[in-house]
Amino acid sequence: MLRRYLSILLIITLACFTSCGREAKSGEKTAEDKAEELKEASLAFFAMDTYMNVRAFGADDALLEEAQKAVAELEKKISVTDPSGEISLLNREGKAVLSEDTAALLARALELCSLTGGALDISVYPVVRAWGFTTEEYRVPAAAEIDGLQKNVDYRRIALNGGEASLPAGMEIDLGSIGKGFAGDLISSVLKKAGVGSALMDLGGNIQALGSKPDGSPWRVAVRDPKGSGVIGVVQVTDGAVVTSGGYERYFEGEDGTVYWHIMDPVTGSPSRSGLISATAVGSEGIYCDALSTALFVMGEERALELWRERGDFEMILVTEDGRVLVSAGLKDAFTPDRSSGYEFSFIGEEKP
Ligand code: ADP
Ligand code: MG
Repeated sequence: MLRRYLSILLIITLACFTSCGREAKSGEKTAEDKAEELKEASLAFFAMDTYMNVRAFGADDALLEEAQKAVAELEKKISVTDPSGEISLLNREGKAVLSEDTAALLARALELCSLTGGALDISVYPVVRAWGFTTEEYRVPAAAEIDGLQKNVDYRRIALNGGEASLPAGMEIDLGSIGKGFAGDLISSVLKKAGVGSALMDLGGNIQALGSKPDGSPWRVAVRDPKGSGVIGVVQVTDGAVVTSGGYERYFEGEDGTVYWHIMDPVTGSPSRSGLISATAVGSEGIYCDALSTALFVMGEERALELWRERGDFEMILVTEDGRVLVSAGLKDAFTPDRSSGYEFSFIGEEKP
């Protein structure tokens, strides 16, 4: 921290010297160059069924449009509603030869399903559809209907050899649970390649940071209160993603007032009831955090904590339906609770397993 502070001080001092003292030599940056570098460009657009907003420092509008285009191409490939998409074709035909990018993404998705012990399962799609979440024509399917659909939910039966993918009869997949997270990684890499070192993306609630703020301090990301319009706290993040899955995002109420949300437990074929009402994953990669947020929500606090210990490469913030906020120990310095939210806060995972 001190070193970073000192180096920023040095840069400011140098900038002053070059602009106040003498002409800059070629190759040296003038004060105008520095101001240009830190100029903010931003772009808001609609993609993957949500609003996305990218703010980047030292980028121009053309670069942000290039990033937007990359997201649009990704969306086209993995869309389950666009009949020309590759995943859409795979669902329709039961087999398909995928492009290199899509095959790599599917391979990664399968790895993430396995890593979460199947709490994330991309083949749960027909079940999600039966509950009406894909069309907003919500309904509670009969137990027999769910049972029938559940027979085809099992990511382990998806075959992928090189670019050739095939699904057992009756199975359909959807990469929606990791798509926005991967879009964050994609935008980051487009910006990074062009030399941008500071950017913040909001992809429908998935937050992804490239580097730190232009002044060198971490980005501050608020985590929403799943029960109200306020926040439960703020996470500081540099070069990483903060992704939340919550029951409040998309849901409907049954006739008896029961709330049904869009995250399914692949074991029951019904909205997950793990005791959690939101799960936030914090880590270096968007796709990983997106997969984890969905999976942790399904797993519940005990299994989530087990996975956290086992992996050691992410942090998490869990909100329980009985009013507790559980923050993994690695966020001790980075998470500031908002006590006015009324939750009971505790750090977990500090004790020896
Ligand atoms: P959102 O996309 O709303 O931010 P998520 O990243 O948690 O939320 O993804 C939820 C979406 O993924 C659902 O809308 C549904 O299509 C699909 N889905 C629901 N449950 C699961 C699950 N257990 N595994 C994989 N995908 C799921
Ligand atoms: Mg997700």
